Amino acid sequence: MDHFLYRDGQLWAEDVALAEIARAVGTPAYVYSAATLLRHFDLFDQALAGIDHLVCFAMKSLSNIAVLKLLGDAGAGMDVVSGGEYLRARAAGVPGARIVFSGVGKTRAEMHTALSGGIRQFNVESEPEMEALSEVAVALGVTAPITIRVNPDVDAQTHAKIATGKSENKFGIPISRARAVFAMAAALPGLRVVGIDVHIGSQLTTLAPFAAAYAKVAELTAQLRADGHAITRLDLGGGLGIPYTRSNEAPPLPAEYGAMIRQTLGHLGCEIEIEPGRLIAGNAGLLLSEVIYVKSGEGRDFLILDAAMNDLIRPAMYDAHHDIVPLVEPVAGVEQRPYDIVGPICETGDTFARARPMPPLAAGDLVAFRSAGAYGAVMASEYNSRLLVPEVLVSGDQFAVIRARPTYDEMISRDSIPAWL
Ligand SMILES: *Cc1c(COP(=O)(O)O)cnc(C)c1O
Repeated sequence: MDHFLYRDGQLWAEDVALAEIARAVGTPAYVYSAATLLRHFDLFDQALAGIDHLVCFAMKSLSNIAVLKLLGDAGAGMDVVSGGEYLRARAAGVPGARIVFSGVGKTRAEMHTALSGGIRQFNVESEPEMEALSEVAVALGVTAPITIRVNPDVDAQTHAKIATGKSENKFGIPISRARAVFAMAAALPGLRVVGIDVHIGSQLTTLAPFAAAYAKVAELTAQLRADGHAITRLDLGGGLGIPYTRSNEAPPLPAEYGAMIRQTLGHLGCEIEIEPGRLIAGNAGLLLSEVIYVKSGEGRDFLILDAAMNDLIRPAMYDAHHDIVPLVEPVAGVEQRPYDIVGPICETGDTFARARPMPPLAAGDLVAFRSAGAYGAVMASEYNSRLLVPEVLVSGDQFAVIRARPTYDEMISRDSIPAWL
């Protein structure tokens, strides 16, 4: 459910015609709907109503500080995976007490930043990381609250690049060694063990893998309590998938996910944290683009867009599907033709779709990639010396540029030529 609908033959974002944004900002450009972001956050928040909980937005999916402020003001916490994300969350006004720090390779400098600025907890992923955090906390004279991320060895049944909960993945400690590692943590100075963390992957389209992982967490909670640890908090990670196509079977809803959490873990009396990213941001954003050329090829036509893999890498990186729709609503019953939809970058990988049925399009027409809010702008680069793609936030009938497109001078002047050249 989003707020990007055709009205009077035009595609709108809430109460703003997207063509107006394209005129004002140019293309390519990301556009986010504030109402959709808030609605998705609320769905998760309500799914856990009645349980002590915090919904921490996985801001690696979309980290513009305007979006973080919108969600933070609504009560969201943040799941950060780097010192840079921590500082972004703080710049957006999110208090440290609502920030959890995940990630397999936190450096001492990042730990220092978060410990001195205030942090809800670190989700620790290995013994060496635990020792480093203990040292940093002791040196600062503070205590670091931690959960330990366990790897439940569950198959998330998702794309290999975003599956994280199998024993061959780099994440967490094997659940079989958890009791020993929790004992080690309890003995280290500067740490306070508060709970268990688990995150098995992204774009999961069924609840079964979550349920299997959470059942293991429930069992482990009982064992750890018997060992004398005060397990009061469970961080259940993110990963709930979204529909990327209209024809897709619908993935489970946040309410169903919440019900499953109550069922598997509700009896433990723990505070629950979840870290959704994609489901909050994915369908809350579009990437606008203009058709530069329509090129006839051998047995196929190419739609060459001004957006490229550097702006939206998901198709190239994860073989991801994005619905691509014209900003002018196609006439009902118009004949569709297959196009290969590509960007201008000098790689065949710069292909968004092959033989995609589309209504007839011409140079100058505007299109929108749907479901591009998550893992879109955050993964953009300047490959081919293309300017970093701008971002726009819509709320009701207002819109604002929340990251401006840089100028060529700005891009080039970041480099410098040594005096000896
Ligand atoms: C990526 C990630 C998330 C968010 O995953 P989504 O699929 O976007 O919900 C949450 N927690 C951790 C630890 C992650 O690495």
